[in-house]
Amino acid sequence: MRIPKSHPRYESLVRRETLVRAWKQGIVVPEGLIAHGRGEAFDYLFGEETTAPALVAEKAAAAFLVQAKRPVLSVNGNVAALASSEIAGLARRLSAVVEVNLFHRSETRVRRIVRIMRDAGAPTVLGLRPNATIPHLESKRAFSHRRGVYGADVVLVPLEDGDRTEALVHMGKTVISIDLNPLSRTSRMASVPIVDEVRRALPTVEKFVQELQGDPEETTRICAEYDRRGNLAAVYSFLEWRLGVLTRRPRAKPRARGKRRTRR
Ligand code: ATP
Repeated sequence: MRIPKSHPRYESLVRRETLVRAWKQGIVVPEGLIAHGRGEAFDYLFGEETTAPALVAEKAAAAFLVQAKRPVLSVNGNVAALASSEIAGLARRLSAVVEVNLFHRSETRVRRIVRIMRDAGAPTVLGLRPNATIPHLESKRAFSHRRGVYGADVVLVPLEDGDRTEALVHMGKTVISIDLNPLSRTSRMASVPIVDEVRRALPTVEKFVQELQGDPEETTRICAEYDRRGNLAAVYSFLEWRLGVLTRRPRAKPRARGKRRTRR
C-alpha cells in the first residue's frame, strides 16, 4: 500500500506496513504485531515525542554502554524489522556484539534475523547454535551465547519481556530496556528503563555514546548520579500531566468561539 506523505499519521502507518511486511516474510510473529499496538497506544499518550525523562535515561544508557567491557545488544523480530540499521550503527560505534533472541524461536527465524542484522552492517551477530542458558528462564528465550548476552556486563534489550529482564538483572548485569510502556515489568525491572519509541531512542543513544566516548569523567559522573527511581517517577508525572492537558482541551473550545470566558 502506498501511504501519502501528507497523511497526519504517516510515520505510524509506515511502521505498521513495515511490520506487516516483516510478518509476511516470517521475521515478525503475530504476537509481535499485538505488542506493537500496545507500544503505539503509549506513544499516543506521550505525544509521539521523546520526553525529557526519556532523554535523561538515554544519556544514562549511553554512559553505561560506554563504560561496559562487554556490551551486547539483544534483537528480536520487531526490532530487526523496525530498527536494524539503528542497532547496527550502535553496535559498530560500541564494538558491541548483537545477539538474536526470540520468544517464539525457530532456527529458520533466527537465521533470517541474523541475516538482516549482518546486511544492516552489524559486525558480530550471534543467535545460531547457542552455547549457554540464562538461569531461571523456562522459555526458549533462555538460549544464549557465552560471547553474547550470557557473558555481557551491560545488555540493551529493546521491546523485551519482563521475565528475561528480571533474569538478566538477577545475573548481575546492567540491563537497559527500551519500552514505551512505563508500567511493564520490563520497565520496572530494568537497571536503566528508557520509555521511548525504539526508532527514536536508538539514534539518540548513539549520539550520546559518540559524545561520551571522548569524555570519561562525564561518563563516570552520569553513571554515578543516574537515579532510576527518580527517572521513572518523572515519566509517570509526565503521563499524569499529559492526561491532564488532554482532558482539559475540550473545555477550551467554547472560549475559542468567544461564547464564554474561562480563567486560565
Ligand atoms: P512485560 O512482560 O515487561 O510486562 P509485555 O508482556 O508487554 O511486558 P511484550 O509483550 O514482550 O512484553 O511487549 C513488548 C513491549 O514493547 C510492550 O510493552 C510495548 O509497549 C513495547 N513496544 C512495542 N513496540 C514498541 C516500539 N516501537 N518502541 C518501544 N516500545 C515498544
